[in-house]
This record gives sequence, structure tokens and C-alpha cells, in this order.
Amino acid sequence: MTGRLSGKQALITGAGRGIGAAIALRFASEGAALLLNDIDAAAVAAIAEECRKDSAAVHVCVADVSDPSAVERLFDEAVAALGGLTVLVNNAGIGGVGKTILDSDLDEWNRMIAVDLTSVFLACRAAVPLMRDTGRGSIINLSSVTGVTGTAGSVPYASAKAGVIGLSKALAKETAHWRINVNAIAPGLIDTEMSRVRGQSSSAADLLWPRIGTPDDIAHLAVYLASDEAEFVTGQVISPNGGAVI
Ligand code: NAP
Repeated sequence: MTGRLSGKQALITGAGRGIGAAIALRFASEGAALLLNDIDAAAVAAIAEECRKDSAAVHVCVADVSDPSAVERLFDEAVAALGGLTVLVNNAGIGGVGKTILDSDLDEWNRMIAVDLTSVFLACRAAVPLMRDTGRGSIINLSSVTGVTGTAGSVPYASAKAGVIGLSKALAKETAHWRINVNAIAPGLIDTEMSRVRGQSSSAADLLWPRIGTPDDIAHLAVYLASDEAEFVTGQVISPNGGAVI
């Protein structure tokens, strides 16, 4: 099948629901071969089944991306199932718990940093040699406007998401000569389980656009960043946020 991503071999983490699921479905419709990851086996199996309506090559690997040995297994699976890797979307994440620093404990901090930041480091470190050997690659890391502006009650989340931006910029500088571009997407309020649990009303009040974001708003951008059309775009933080932050 032909599409903007035909010939691409893509790994998407946290693809069982929300933004990751929307990216998986758009990538399949654009012809990419896929390895879909999530910690929730049933959820990711269901999304993979939907993706197979468009792309014959859709594989699943259930893994906790904060666990270094599970990430190794995930990339072994990428090589075995896809024969290599040209696109990595680090999307899996957990949201802020809405506590001030005075109510936060170290275990919550460590868990947030492990899932939202260390996972990105582990996956990028595993992906770069595969992309370098192919001579081309695109890495897309999900940050957040909270990582750019900060949000009260989100010190661990904001720290992890700001870290994703720093990681993406530094890695872009290390990998451009191998034709690997690295970009961060920093969404504003997107209607998913994560934002519903946290509560959407205070962030919705900041929007200029007359609706909140959808997972597809992010998936459209991810398709562009994964495609050859975005080859000259690297080290950037792109923030679809409905004008909440200008
Ligand atoms: P979501 O609806 O909660 O989906 C996240 C997915 O990642 C879930 O399927 C979740 O599985 C999975 N996941 C969580 N921890 C994992 C782990 N350790 N290993 C593998 N998979 C794991 O979240 P979302 O709103 O789509 O967010 C996706 C990304 O966008 C996140 O990085 C988030 O921080 C970022 N983001 C979201 C918004 C927003 O407004 N929604 C705004 C800015 C940035 P379970 O269901 O089992 O937990």
C-alpha cells in the first residue's frame, strides 16, 4: 500500500488508548509497518486489530517502558518483527497527580521520572544505532505544555516533560549527521483519559480555539514529523495547544 509513511518501520509506545492509539491508526492508514507497545495487553491488542484493516504489518509488544530489560526486549522485537526501525514515537506516559510539592513523596517523583523521562532515554538509546545503520530515522517524543510553562500541582510531571525537551534537543544535535531527526511534541489540553482524570476545566479556560484538542490533532502532526516531508525539521518543540500558550 502507498501512503505518506509507506516503507517506514515505526514503534509507538503507549498505543493502547488516547494519543498513542490515534497515532497508531493514522500511521497504519499512511502505510507504515508497526510495532505497537503498551503496558495494557488487551487495549493494545484491540488497537492493533483496528490498524490491521489498513496495514498488514502490525505487531504488538506488551512492556513497561520504564523497565530497562523490558525496553531491550521491545527493541529486539522491533528488529525481529519489522526488520529494523526508522520511526520511534515515545508517547507512553502517566499524568500529574495534582499535588503540591509539600504533599508529594519521593516514590511518586521517582515513578513519574521513570515512566515519563527515563523511558524516553532508554528507548532513544536503543533506537539510535538501528536508525544510524539504516541511514535515516525520526524520533518523536511526547512532552507537554506543562514542560514549557509549568503548572501548579505538577512539579514531577513538569520536570519530566521539561526533561523530554532537553533530551530531544541534545539528541538532535548528536544525531543529525546520521540523518536522524528528533523533535518534541508539547500538546496542550487533549481529550483523553489522562486529562479527564486530572480534570479539564482549568486548562480549558486558557484555550483561544473554540474546542479542546483531540488525539487526532496530535496524530496529524506525528504523521508529518515521521514523514520525509519533515526531514529538515529537527530539535524543535511543536505545541498544538489551541492558542493556550502563544
Ligand atoms: P493516556 O490516555 O493515559 O494513554 C497513555 C497510554 O500509555 C495508556 O494506554 C497507558 O496504559 C500507557 N502507559 C502508561 N504507562 C506505561 C508504561 N510504563 N509502559 C507502557 N505503556 C504505558 O494518555 P494520553 O493523554 O494519550 O497521553 C499520551 C502522551 O501525551 C503522554 O506522554 C502524555 O504525558 C502526553 N500529553 C497528554 C496531554 C493530554 O492533555 N492528554 C497533554 C500533554 C501531553 P494504561 O492505560 O494501562 O495506563
